[in-house]
Amino acid sequence: MSTTNTINSTNTKDSKNNSVSDLARQLVQDLVPYASARSSMSGGAVWLNANENALAPAYQLDGTFNRYPSCQPKAVIDAYAPYAGVAPEQVLVSRGADEGIELLIRSFCEPKQDSITICPPTYGMYAISAESNQTAVNKVLLVNNEQLDLAGIFATTPKLVFICSPNNPTGDLIPREQIIAVLEQFQGKALVVVDEAYIEFAPSASVVPLLSRYPHLVILRTLSKAFGLAGLRCGFTLAAPEVINALKKLIAPYPIAEPVAQIAAQALAPAGIAQMQQSVATINQLRQEFCQFAQGLEGVQKVWPSNANYVLLQVADAAACVAALINEDILIRNQSSQLGLSQVVRVSIGNPDEMQRLKQAMLNYFSANKRVSA
Ligand SMILES: *Cc1c(COP(=O)(O)O)cnc(C)c1O
Repeated sequence: MSTTNTINSTNTKDSKNNSVSDLARQLVQDLVPYASARSSMSGGAVWLNANENALAPAYQLDGTFNRYPSCQPKAVIDAYAPYAGVAPEQVLVSRGADEGIELLIRSFCEPKQDSITICPPTYGMYAISAESNQTAVNKVLLVNNEQLDLAGIFATTPKLVFICSPNNPTGDLIPREQIIAVLEQFQGKALVVVDEAYIEFAPSASVVPLLSRYPHLVILRTLSKAFGLAGLRCGFTLAAPEVINALKKLIAPYPIAEPVAQIAAQALAPAGIAQMQQSVATINQLRQEFCQFAQGLEGVQKVWPSNANYVLLQVADAAACVAALINEDILIRNQSSQLGLSQVVRVSIGNPDEMQRLKQAMLNYFSANKRVSA
Protein backbone atom coordinates (compact mmCIF):
# COMPACT_ATOMS: atom_id res chain seq x y z
CA MET A 1 0.00 0.00 0.00
CA SER A 2 2.64 2.49 1.04
CA THR A 3 4.84 1.31 -1.82
CA THR A 4 2.09 2.00 -4.31
CA ASN A 5 1.61 5.48 -2.90
CA THR A 6 5.28 6.23 -3.19
CA ILE A 7 5.39 5.08 -6.80
CA ASN A 8 2.32 7.13 -7.67
CA SER A 9 3.55 10.32 -6.13
CA THR A 10 6.96 9.89 -7.72
CA ASN A 11 5.38 9.38 -11.11
CA THR A 12 3.16 12.42 -10.75
CA LYS A 13 6.13 14.56 -9.86
CA ASP A 14 8.57 13.19 -12.41
CA SER A 15 6.62 12.75 -15.61
CA LYS A 16 3.22 14.03 -16.62
CA ASN A 17 3.33 11.53 -19.49
CA ASN A 18 2.24 8.62 -17.34
CA SER A 19 -0.95 10.27 -16.09
CA VAL A 20 -4.22 8.58 -17.06
CA SER A 21 -5.58 11.87 -18.43
CA ASP A 22 -2.96 11.60 -21.18
CA LEU A 23 -4.81 8.52 -22.43
CA ALA A 24 -7.80 10.67 -23.41
CA ARG A 25 -8.21 11.76 -27.04
CA GLN A 26 -6.17 14.86 -27.91
CA LEU A 27 -9.45 16.63 -28.69
CA VAL A 28 -10.68 15.96 -25.15
CA GLN A 29 -7.40 16.98 -23.55
CA ASP A 30 -7.58 20.31 -25.38
CA LEU A 31 -11.28 20.94 -24.70
CA VAL A 32 -12.22 23.74 -22.29
CA PRO A 33 -15.43 22.59 -20.56
CA TYR A 34 -18.51 24.81 -20.44
CA ALA A 35 -18.57 26.75 -17.18
CA SER A 36 -22.25 26.56 -16.32
CA ALA A 37 -23.74 29.05 -13.90
CA ARG A 38 -24.23 26.18 -11.45
CA SER A 39 -20.58 25.06 -11.61
CA SER A 40 -19.29 28.55 -10.75
CA MET A 41 -21.55 28.91 -7.75
CA SER A 42 -20.04 29.15 -4.32
CA GLY A 43 -22.76 29.59 -1.76
CA GLY A 44 -24.95 32.66 -1.99
CA ALA A 45 -28.57 32.83 -0.93
CA VAL A 46 -30.09 34.67 -3.88
CA TRP A 47 -29.44 32.95 -7.20
CA LEU A 48 -29.96 35.32 -10.12
CA ASN A 49 -27.25 33.97 -12.41
CA ALA A 50 -28.76 31.07 -14.37
CA ASN A 51 -32.08 32.40 -15.73
CA GLU A 52 -33.99 29.91 -13.60
CA ASN A 53 -37.56 30.49 -12.45
CA ALA A 54 -37.75 31.28 -8.73
CA LEU A 55 -41.52 30.76 -8.73
CA ALA A 56 -41.24 26.96 -8.91
CA PRO A 57 -44.25 24.64 -8.60
CA ALA A 58 -43.95 21.30 -6.75
CA TYR A 59 -44.68 17.90 -8.32
CA GLN A 60 -45.62 14.40 -7.17
CA LEU A 61 -44.18 11.08 -8.33
CA ASP A 62 -45.97 7.79 -8.18
CA GLY A 63 -45.52 4.20 -9.29
CA THR A 64 -42.52 1.95 -9.50
CA PHE A 65 -39.35 2.35 -11.52
CA ASN A 66 -38.24 -1.24 -12.18
CA ARG A 67 -38.91 -0.98 -15.95
CA TYR A 68 -36.87 0.88 -18.55
CA PRO A 69 -38.67 4.03 -19.68
CA SER A 70 -39.97 4.76 -23.15
CA CYS A 71 -37.39 6.52 -25.38
CA GLN A 72 -40.00 9.10 -26.42
CA PRO A 73 -42.72 9.01 -23.73
CA LYS A 74 -46.06 9.33 -25.51
CA ALA A 75 -47.77 11.27 -22.71
CA VAL A 76 -45.07 13.96 -22.94
CA ILE A 77 -45.02 14.15 -26.76
CA ASP A 78 -48.83 14.18 -26.96
CA ALA A 79 -48.97 17.03 -24.42
CA TYR A 80 -46.17 19.13 -25.91
CA ALA A 81 -47.35 18.92 -29.54
CA PRO A 82 -50.69 20.73 -29.05
CA TYR A 83 -49.08 23.16 -26.61
CA ALA A 84 -46.53 24.10 -29.29
CA GLY A 85 -49.02 23.95 -32.15
CA VAL A 86 -47.39 21.12 -34.09
CA ALA A 87 -48.07 17.42 -34.81
CA PRO A 88 -46.58 14.72 -32.53
CA GLU A 89 -44.34 13.52 -35.41
CA GLN A 90 -42.70 16.96 -35.36
CA VAL A 91 -41.58 16.66 -31.72
CA LEU A 92 -38.47 15.10 -30.15
CA VAL A 93 -38.09 15.15 -26.36
CA SER A 94 -34.52 15.13 -25.01
CA ARG A 95 -32.39 15.61 -21.89
CA GLY A 96 -32.77 19.38 -22.02
CA ALA A 97 -32.54 21.55 -25.13
CA ASP A 98 -28.77 21.11 -24.75
CA GLU A 99 -29.09 17.50 -25.87
CA GLY A 100 -31.10 18.71 -28.89
CA ILE A 101 -28.20 21.00 -29.85
CA GLU A 102 -25.72 18.15 -29.53
CA LEU A 103 -27.89 15.71 -31.49
CA LEU A 104 -28.35 18.21 -34.32
CA ILE A 105 -24.60 18.73 -34.63
CA ARG A 106 -23.78 15.03 -34.39
CA SER A 107 -26.50 14.15 -36.93
CA PHE A 108 -25.84 16.83 -39.54
CA CYS A 109 -22.16 17.81 -39.26
CA GLU A 110 -19.41 15.55 -40.58
CA PRO A 111 -16.44 15.95 -38.18
CA LYS A 112 -13.45 17.89 -39.57
CA GLN A 113 -15.48 18.81 -42.63
CA ASP A 114 -18.72 20.67 -41.91
CA SER A 115 -19.29 23.88 -39.96
CA ILE A 116 -22.01 25.68 -38.04
CA THR A 117 -22.75 29.41 -38.02
CA ILE A 118 -23.56 31.25 -34.80
CA CYS A 119 -24.26 34.94 -34.09
CA PRO A 120 -22.46 36.13 -30.94
CA PRO A 121 -23.01 37.34 -28.35
CA THR A 122 -25.15 34.25 -27.83
CA TYR A 123 -25.67 31.00 -25.95
CA GLY A 124 -22.40 29.13 -25.35
CA MET A 125 -23.42 25.52 -25.96
CA TYR A 126 -23.60 25.73 -29.79
CA ALA A 127 -19.84 26.28 -30.00
CA ILE A 128 -19.04 23.81 -27.19
CA SER A 129 -21.04 21.01 -28.83
CA ALA A 130 -19.52 21.80 -32.23
CA GLU A 131 -15.99 21.65 -30.87
CA SER A 132 -16.59 18.28 -29.21
CA ASN A 133 -17.76 17.01 -32.62
CA GLN A 134 -14.70 18.52 -34.36
CA THR A 135 -16.96 20.90 -36.23
CA ALA A 136 -15.80 24.41 -37.14
CA VAL A 137 -17.75 27.42 -35.87
CA ASN A 138 -18.34 30.48 -38.08
CA LYS A 139 -18.95 33.47 -35.81
CA VAL A 140 -20.92 36.29 -37.43
CA LEU A 141 -21.45 38.99 -34.83
CA LEU A 142 -24.89 40.55 -34.37
CA VAL A 143 -25.15 44.12 -35.68
CA ASN A 144 -25.55 46.47 -32.69
CA ASN A 145 -26.13 43.29 -30.68
CA GLU A 146 -29.71 43.09 -31.95
CA GLN A 147 -29.90 42.34 -35.68
CA LEU A 148 -28.47 39.53 -37.76
CA ASP A 149 -25.64 40.41 -40.15
CA LEU A 150 -27.35 38.75 -43.12
CA ALA A 151 -24.53 39.34 -45.63
CA GLY A 152 -22.06 37.92 -43.14
CA ILE A 153 -24.19 34.84 -42.52
CA PHE A 154 -24.76 34.30 -46.25
CA ALA A 155 -21.00 34.36 -46.82
CA THR A 156 -20.65 31.18 -44.69
CA THR A 157 -21.39 27.64 -45.89
CA PRO A 158 -22.58 25.84 -42.77
CA LYS A 159 -24.72 22.74 -42.26
CA LEU A 160 -26.51 24.42 -39.33
CA VAL A 161 -27.25 28.10 -38.58
CA PHE A 162 -28.11 28.80 -34.94
CA ILE A 163 -30.31 31.81 -34.18
CA CYS A 164 -31.30 32.46 -30.55
CA SER A 165 -34.54 34.46 -30.10
CA PRO A 166 -35.04 35.87 -27.50
CA ASN A 167 -31.25 35.93 -27.54
CA ASN A 168 -29.29 34.93 -24.45
CA PRO A 169 -27.70 37.09 -22.98
CA THR A 170 -28.99 40.26 -24.72
CA GLY A 171 -32.74 39.53 -24.37
CA ASP A 172 -33.55 40.82 -27.86
CA LEU A 173 -35.92 39.16 -30.30
CA ILE A 174 -34.42 38.57 -33.74
CA PRO A 175 -36.75 40.20 -36.32
CA ARG A 176 -38.95 37.61 -38.06
CA GLU A 177 -38.13 39.01 -41.56
CA GLN A 178 -34.47 38.32 -40.89
CA ILE A 179 -35.16 34.72 -39.85
CA ILE A 180 -37.21 34.28 -43.03
CA ALA A 181 -34.36 35.74 -45.10
CA VAL A 182 -31.96 33.18 -43.60
CA LEU A 183 -34.46 30.37 -44.27
CA GLU A 184 -34.82 31.47 -47.91
CA GLN A 185 -31.06 31.65 -48.37
CA PHE A 186 -30.26 28.20 -46.96
CA GLN A 187 -33.14 26.21 -48.46
CA GLY A 188 -31.71 22.85 -49.54
CA LYS A 189 -28.28 23.71 -48.09
CA ALA A 190 -28.48 23.89 -44.33
CA LEU A 191 -30.86 23.62 -41.38
CA VAL A 192 -31.81 26.86 -39.63
CA VAL A 193 -32.12 26.26 -35.89
CA VAL A 194 -34.09 28.86 -33.92
CA ASP A 195 -33.51 28.51 -30.18
CA GLU A 196 -36.76 29.50 -28.43
CA ALA A 197 -35.69 28.58 -24.87
CA TYR A 198 -37.32 31.82 -23.61
CA ILE A 199 -40.24 32.09 -26.04
CA GLU A 200 -42.88 31.77 -23.29
CA PHE A 201 -41.94 35.30 -22.22
CA ALA A 202 -42.82 36.60 -25.72
CA PRO A 203 -45.03 33.85 -27.19
CA SER A 204 -46.30 35.82 -30.20
CA ALA A 205 -42.74 35.93 -31.58
CA SER A 206 -42.50 32.16 -32.03
CA VAL A 207 -41.57 30.98 -35.53
CA VAL A 208 -43.60 27.76 -35.20
CA PRO A 209 -46.04 29.05 -37.90
CA LEU A 210 -43.10 28.96 -40.36
CA LEU A 211 -42.53 25.21 -39.89
CA SER A 212 -45.15 24.26 -42.49
CA ARG A 213 -43.42 26.43 -45.12
CA TYR A 214 -39.79 25.52 -44.36
CA PRO A 215 -38.84 21.84 -43.88
CA HIS A 216 -35.31 22.90 -42.94
CA LEU A 217 -36.47 24.97 -39.95
CA VAL A 218 -35.73 23.50 -36.50
CA ILE A 219 -36.97 25.01 -33.21
CA LEU A 220 -35.49 24.31 -29.77
CA ARG A 221 -37.62 24.53 -26.63
CA THR A 222 -37.16 23.70 -22.93
CA LEU A 223 -38.98 23.23 -19.63
CA SER A 224 -35.97 24.78 -17.84
CA LYS A 225 -36.93 28.45 -17.97
CA ALA A 226 -40.59 29.58 -17.93
CA PHE A 227 -41.82 26.19 -16.68
CA GLY A 228 -39.43 26.37 -13.72
CA LEU A 229 -37.97 22.88 -14.27
CA ALA A 230 -34.25 23.40 -14.89
CA GLY A 231 -33.50 20.53 -12.52
CA LEU A 232 -35.67 18.15 -14.53
CA ARG A 233 -33.53 18.24 -17.70
CA CYS A 234 -36.26 18.14 -20.31
CA GLY A 235 -36.26 19.91 -23.68
CA PHE A 236 -37.83 19.64 -27.11
CA THR A 237 -36.83 19.85 -30.75
CA LEU A 238 -39.59 20.80 -33.21
CA ALA A 239 -39.01 20.09 -36.90
CA ALA A 240 -40.20 18.24 -39.97
CA PRO A 241 -40.62 14.48 -39.32
CA GLU A 242 -37.59 13.75 -41.57
CA VAL A 243 -35.35 15.83 -39.29
CA ILE A 244 -36.86 14.32 -36.12
CA ASN A 245 -36.30 10.79 -37.50
CA ALA A 246 -32.64 11.56 -38.22
CA LEU A 247 -32.14 12.71 -34.61
CA LYS A 248 -33.90 9.61 -33.28
CA LYS A 249 -31.24 7.43 -34.92
CA LEU A 250 -28.54 8.92 -32.67
CA ILE A 251 -30.39 9.61 -29.43
CA ALA A 252 -29.63 7.33 -26.47
CA PRO A 253 -32.08 4.44 -25.95
CA TYR A 254 -33.43 5.88 -22.66
CA PRO A 255 -32.78 9.64 -22.59
CA ILE A 256 -35.85 10.51 -20.51
CA ALA A 257 -35.99 8.89 -17.06
CA GLU A 258 -39.45 7.76 -15.93
CA PRO A 259 -39.70 10.37 -13.11
CA VAL A 260 -38.79 13.06 -15.66
CA ALA A 261 -41.53 11.87 -18.01
CA GLN A 262 -44.12 11.87 -15.20
CA ILE A 263 -43.26 15.39 -14.06
CA ALA A 264 -43.08 16.75 -17.62
CA ALA A 265 -46.55 15.37 -18.34
CA GLN A 266 -47.90 17.12 -15.22
CA ALA A 267 -46.23 20.40 -16.18
CA LEU A 268 -47.79 20.20 -19.65
CA ALA A 269 -51.32 19.38 -18.46
CA PRO A 270 -53.74 22.35 -18.75
CA ALA A 271 -53.30 23.29 -15.07
CA GLY A 272 -49.49 23.19 -15.43
CA ILE A 273 -49.56 25.42 -18.50
CA ALA A 274 -51.90 27.88 -16.77
CA GLN A 275 -49.54 28.00 -13.80
CA MET A 276 -46.58 28.64 -16.12
CA GLN A 277 -48.44 31.48 -17.85
CA GLN A 278 -49.24 33.05 -14.51
CA SER A 279 -45.60 32.92 -13.44
CA VAL A 280 -44.56 34.42 -16.79
CA ALA A 281 -46.94 37.36 -16.20
CA THR A 282 -45.44 37.90 -12.74
CA ILE A 283 -41.86 37.70 -14.05
CA ASN A 284 -42.56 40.07 -16.97
CA GLN A 285 -44.01 42.58 -14.48
CA LEU A 286 -41.02 42.22 -12.11
CA ARG A 287 -38.67 42.64 -15.07
CA GLN A 288 -40.37 45.86 -16.16
CA GLU A 289 -40.09 47.24 -12.63
CA PHE A 290 -36.43 46.21 -12.42
CA CYS A 291 -35.59 47.77 -15.80
CA GLN A 292 -37.13 51.08 -14.70
CA PHE A 293 -35.18 50.92 -11.45
CA ALA A 294 -31.90 50.12 -13.24
CA GLN A 295 -32.40 52.90 -15.78
CA GLY A 296 -32.57 55.37 -12.90
CA LEU A 297 -29.33 54.17 -11.31
CA GLU A 298 -26.32 56.36 -11.81
CA GLY A 299 -23.55 53.94 -12.77
CA VAL A 300 -25.68 51.73 -14.99
CA GLN A 301 -24.75 52.88 -18.48
CA LYS A 302 -27.17 50.77 -20.47
CA VAL A 303 -30.20 48.59 -19.76
CA TRP A 304 -30.92 46.26 -22.64
CA PRO A 305 -34.55 45.87 -23.60
CA SER A 306 -35.48 42.30 -22.65
CA ASN A 307 -38.11 39.85 -23.84
CA ALA A 308 -37.08 37.13 -21.38
CA ASN A 309 -36.54 36.47 -17.66
CA TYR A 310 -33.18 38.25 -17.47
CA VAL A 311 -31.77 41.70 -18.13
CA LEU A 312 -28.35 42.68 -19.40
CA LEU A 313 -26.76 45.77 -17.84
CA GLN A 314 -23.68 47.72 -18.87
CA VAL A 315 -21.67 49.01 -15.92
CA ALA A 316 -18.26 50.61 -15.39
CA ASP A 317 -16.69 47.53 -13.83
CA ALA A 318 -18.63 44.27 -14.27
CA ALA A 319 -16.29 42.13 -12.15
CA ALA A 320 -16.45 44.60 -9.24
CA CYS A 321 -20.24 44.78 -9.51
CA VAL A 322 -20.57 40.96 -9.42
CA ALA A 323 -18.15 40.79 -6.47
CA ALA A 324 -20.00 43.50 -4.54
CA LEU A 325 -23.28 41.61 -4.91
CA ILE A 326 -21.67 38.31 -3.87
CA ASN A 327 -20.72 40.07 -0.64
CA GLU A 328 -24.44 40.55 -0.10
CA ASP A 329 -25.14 36.88 -0.93
CA ILE A 330 -26.54 37.67 -4.37
CA LEU A 331 -25.25 35.89 -7.47
CA ILE A 332 -25.51 37.47 -10.92
CA ARG A 333 -23.48 36.61 -14.01
CA ASN A 334 -20.60 38.46 -15.63
CA GLN A 335 -21.07 38.22 -19.41
CA SER A 336 -18.15 40.48 -20.33
CA SER A 337 -16.14 37.70 -21.97
CA GLN A 338 -18.80 37.29 -24.67
CA LEU A 339 -17.74 38.30 -28.16
CA GLY A 340 -19.13 41.79 -28.89
CA LEU A 341 -19.79 42.71 -25.26
CA SER A 342 -17.73 44.33 -22.55
CA GLN A 343 -18.47 45.31 -18.94
CA VAL A 344 -21.91 43.75 -18.85
CA VAL A 345 -23.69 41.72 -16.18
CA ARG A 346 -26.76 39.55 -16.68
CA VAL A 347 -29.37 39.56 -13.94
CA SER A 348 -32.04 36.84 -13.84
CA ILE A 349 -35.44 37.95 -12.57
CA GLY A 350 -36.11 36.28 -9.19
CA ASN A 351 -39.11 36.37 -6.88
CA PRO A 352 -40.36 39.70 -5.41
CA ASP A 353 -38.33 39.29 -2.22
CA GLU A 354 -35.14 38.49 -4.15
CA MET A 355 -35.67 41.50 -6.44
CA GLN A 356 -36.09 43.74 -3.40
CA ARG A 357 -32.78 42.49 -1.97
CA LEU A 358 -31.11 42.93 -5.35
CA LYS A 359 -32.30 46.52 -5.72
CA GLN A 360 -31.09 47.43 -2.24
CA ALA A 361 -27.68 45.84 -2.89
CA MET A 362 -27.35 47.66 -6.21
CA LEU A 363 -28.31 50.96 -4.60
CA ASN A 364 -25.63 50.40 -1.97
CA TYR A 365 -22.98 49.49 -4.53
CA PHE A 366 -23.62 52.27 -7.00
CA SER A 367 -23.99 55.04 -4.41
CA ALA A 368 -20.74 53.94 -2.68
CA ASN A 369 -19.09 53.98 -6.11
CA LYS A 370 -20.33 57.48 -6.80
CA ARG A 371 -18.82 58.73 -3.54
CA VAL A 372 -15.45 57.19 -4.47
CA SER A 373 -15.33 58.68 -7.96
CA ALA A 374 -16.66 62.09 -6.82
C1 LIG B 1 -30.97 27.55 -20.91
C2 LIG B 1 -30.83 27.53 -22.38
C3 LIG B 1 -30.83 26.35 -23.11
C4 LIG B 1 -30.73 24.99 -22.46
O1 LIG B 1 -31.87 24.52 -21.97
P1 LIG B 1 -31.88 23.11 -21.21
O2 LIG B 1 -33.20 22.56 -21.63
O3 LIG B 1 -31.80 23.42 -19.76
O4 LIG B 1 -30.75 22.27 -21.70
C5 LIG B 1 -30.79 26.41 -24.48
N1 LIG B 1 -30.73 27.59 -25.11
C6 LIG B 1 -30.70 28.75 -24.45
C7 LIG B 1 -30.63 30.02 -25.20
C8 LIG B 1 -30.72 28.75 -23.06
O5 LIG B 1 -30.61 29.92 -22.40
